[in-house]
Amino acid sequence: MLEVNGVNSFYGKAQVLNDLNFTVDRGTVVALLGRNGAGKTTTMKSIMQLVRPRQGKIIYQGQDITGWPSHKVARNGLGYVPEERRIFTQLTVMENLEVGRQPPRDGCTTWTEDMVFDLFPNLAERRHNRGKALSGGEQQMLTIARTLMGNPAFILLDEPSEGIAPVIVEQMARVILQLKAEGLTVLLSEQNLHFAQAVADGVVIIEHGTQKFVGTLAALQSQPEIRDQYLSV
Ligand code: ATP
Repeated sequence: MLEVNGVNSFYGKAQVLNDLNFTVDRGTVVALLGRNGAGKTTTMKSIMQLVRPRQGKIIYQGQDITGWPSHKVARNGLGYVPEERRIFTQLTVMENLEVGRQPPRDGCTTWTEDMVFDLFPNLAERRHNRGKALSGGEQQMLTIARTLMGNPAFILLDEPSEGIAPVIVEQMARVILQLKAEGLTVLLSEQNLHFAQAVADGVVIIEHGTQKFVGTLAALQSQPEIRDQYLSV
């Protein structure tokens, strides 16, 4: 479904991604793992064309989307949930969801408020509260919920478990598995293997912008030396 093909990305003169090559198959969850500063966010931004790869291609559903404006990438069915929560703090939960609403998309779930509230019951209780009244974890959920209102086929979640309470982390893992059950394809980034283990089918490990491992979660688990070298466990 998504191919990252020989991607090199830079910030100015500094090369941050070196020849990344991996694929994400339809209906799977792939975890992009690596320590702080490894290049996970830059990989996601390169897919979304928020950072333009200087070399290489991003192929989505057979189409080369490299160089497209990011809003066109999003309209094509890729939903990006950045690490920093991007909600409208002055708007209510319902109003935030309305902002994210897009027309139905062929072959994708058409999300309604009731459906996202089934996924995030805490948000249902707070539907008339303003964004600023929500906890960090609830804001994180609202950012995902709002992205779902755009009916994506593919969702990119940048460190969804970062900075939220353990009980919410468990809920987040359940949500990701429910999204997969809905037929969405998921690429998430994580520093910690523990969360990835609960949800991922495939794993890509990067360090200093270079890919160190691509394979299934099971294959990674049979190579503890790779895990120990590149990840915090
Ligand atoms: P984190 O877990 O901290 O988000 P990450 O794996 O997502 O880490 P990136 O944010 O992609 O890593 O950063 C990769 C490298 O690029 C780091 O060395 C970082 O300092 C650098 N970098 C990130 N954003 C910029 C920028 N806007 N300008 C210059 N360098 C940047």
